[in-house]
Amino acid sequence: KGEVFSLPINLHTINQFFNKTFSPSEAKIFIEKLGNKMISEPKNFEEQALKMIGSDLYEAFFKGYTQKQWGKDPKELPSWILKRLPVRFTYDDNYYNHKFQGMPTNGYTTLVENLLDHKNIMVHLNSEQGSASGNFSHTFYSGPLDKYFNYQLGRLEYRTLDFERNYDKGDFQGAAVINYCEETVPFTRITEHKFFSPWEKFESTVYFREFSRACGESDEPYYPVHLTGSNHIYEGYKQLAAKEANTTFVGRLGTYRYLDMDQTIREALDTAQNWPDVTKNSK
Ligand code: UDP
Repeated sequence: KGEVFSLPINLHTINQFFNKTFSPSEAKIFIEKLGNKMISEPKNFEEQALKMIGSDLYEAFFKGYTQKQWGKDPKELPSWILKRLPVRFTYDDNYYNHKFQGMPTNGYTTLVENLLDHKNIMVHLNSEQGSASGNFSHTFYSGPLDKYFNYQLGRLEYRTLDFERNYDKGDFQGAAVINYCEETVPFTRITEHKFFSPWEKFESTVYFREFSRACGESDEPYYPVHLTGSNHIYEGYKQLAAKEANTTFVGRLGTYRYLDMDQTIREALDTAQNWPDVTKNSK
């Protein structure tokens, strides 16, 4: 709504938003007072937010963004989605709490190209032969869980994203990501990728507006949509997957979980290292 704030919510955001000069401990007491004490066990995203930060910050930063991102009322979404985001009482505006953070030197495209450039790896594009065809002694499946089973229990819900690419001279927004939290703006955020590698200098810039929408049958799924309560279709597929002795389901789509890149890579490495044939062959 015509104002710019520091995100994720930190001491700067709180002082900007409430026009204060709080110290960390003052801000903590202030925010605790704003939190809704009536909610002991938050049952959904909205209750989690109201309990944690109160209604003003919730409505400014989370309500509209969440509605746009998921196409759902935040009351329908589980509370753990909000727990992904930190609220800090310092001026640290880093998105993550991880001790180590980094970008692959030459970007993810090069990283994946190098991974695939191995004598034991052949890439077949636009081919379904990796799925339940049974022609392999073992399959590691990272496609959509419901697709593997030919949607026999129905379709799982996903969100897809549309990216609108734009070019400009100089710098466009001066930060890697700026979120547009109000519902009336049709996109969720703008990413200006040059700011992910500030050690590189460019005269021009490329930035992407990100639009979230329901994933249709021919769209690429990005996010599994988990609602509060249990999801019978997902539970059904999980049971079917557990019975597939010759297939290991991996990744965001294969396991229908909202994973970050670092978690996905950790799990992939663990899966590979724990794979009996790998241990055998490496001896
Ligand atoms: N979120 C929000 N406002 C923001 C950023 C995030 O309400 O400015 C909520 C929203 O529901 C989002 C969730 O927090 O889906 C997780 O945000 P994150 O930035 O981790 O999402 P991702 O990068 O995975 O899309």
